[in-house]
Amino acid sequence: MIERPVTVTPAQRRVVDEVLAWGAQRPLPPDGLAERLLARMTAAMGEWIALRTERGPAAPRPLLVTKTRLSRLVCDGLQREPEPYVHAWANVRGTMVHAAIESDVDGARSEPAVAVVERAWHRLATDRPGDPASIGAWLNARDAGERATLIDESVALLTGFREVWPELRDAPLRVRTEQRLVVMLAGRAVRLQGVPDLIVESHVEDGRARRLLIDLKTGMPRGQRDRDELRFYALLATLAGGAPPFRWATLYVTEGRLEHEDLSEAVLMTAAQRVADAVQQAVRLETVAAEAEGEQLAGGAWCAGCRRRARCPVAAAG
Ligand code: SF4
Repeated sequence: MIERPVTVTPAQRRVVDEVLAWGAQRPLPPDGLAERLLARMTAAMGEWIALRTERGPAAPRPLLVTKTRLSRLVCDGLQREPEPYVHAWANVRGTMVHAAIESDVDGARSEPAVAVVERAWHRLATDRPGDPASIGAWLNARDAGERATLIDESVALLTGFREVWPELRDAPLRVRTEQRLVVMLAGRAVRLQGVPDLIVESHVEDGRARRLLIDLKTGMPRGQRDRDELRFYALLATLAGGAPPFRWATLYVTEGRLEHEDLSEAVLMTAAQRVADAVQQAVRLETVAAEAEGEQLAGGAWCAGCRRRARCPVAAAG
């Protein structure tokens, strides 16, 4: 009998039972699953290859498909003119908490949460501080009060994470943090890429699905968008080799709550179809002039992240 991880809170016990599914038989993946997922994307990849071949030396660069590209499929304008990423309180706090959690699962659990967060601050603040666009520059521009508040908020989130997530260092598992998953398709003309926050792996290799993917969220839950991001990671993990994950879960750190989905061919097919849609939309946008009548625009909450919102006729109010 493999020794169960030590737990110190009821929430950790629930994670071991209900998310790690400790002691439960792992599923055998369906035969030919990866091939069928690839087949779902074949037509779209063919269109992208044909476009590049037709354009010759003027061919578009290889296409990078990430969770960000997938989230912009709702509107052509958003795909073409998204607001550039800028550091702000909420996303910097998220980055800092992710860095602290990474240390925590890598062996810092016995240290006070504030020490782990302070170290994460220092690591990020010394990352290219001379570059005004860097997170280091943003952190170094905070005054003492802002720094204290950001540290306090991050400590509260790391403490919440510790309440829910068990220490797995002594368990017969390997926990990888921020492991980049990359899948090259269409003769390297399309690159699928994603970075799940945690991958919990077993040392056992018997063809069964034994990996668990975890995505950590420190902001407001975004329902379907959060599910779609994880499904994309599950697709990447399946195509990148080995058996697929048996489960993928979002841990809402602020609420101490996990939502999960189990291995399902139908669900992975929806993720493959979204990738196919992204590639087909990229082909279409290559042939529709910018801000031409052929563009397909749709307003919604996402307009807040679009540079056209002040002039767009269908922008959502807000
Ligand atoms: S403002 Fe909204 S509807 Fe208009 S192009 Fe941007 S995302 Fe689309």
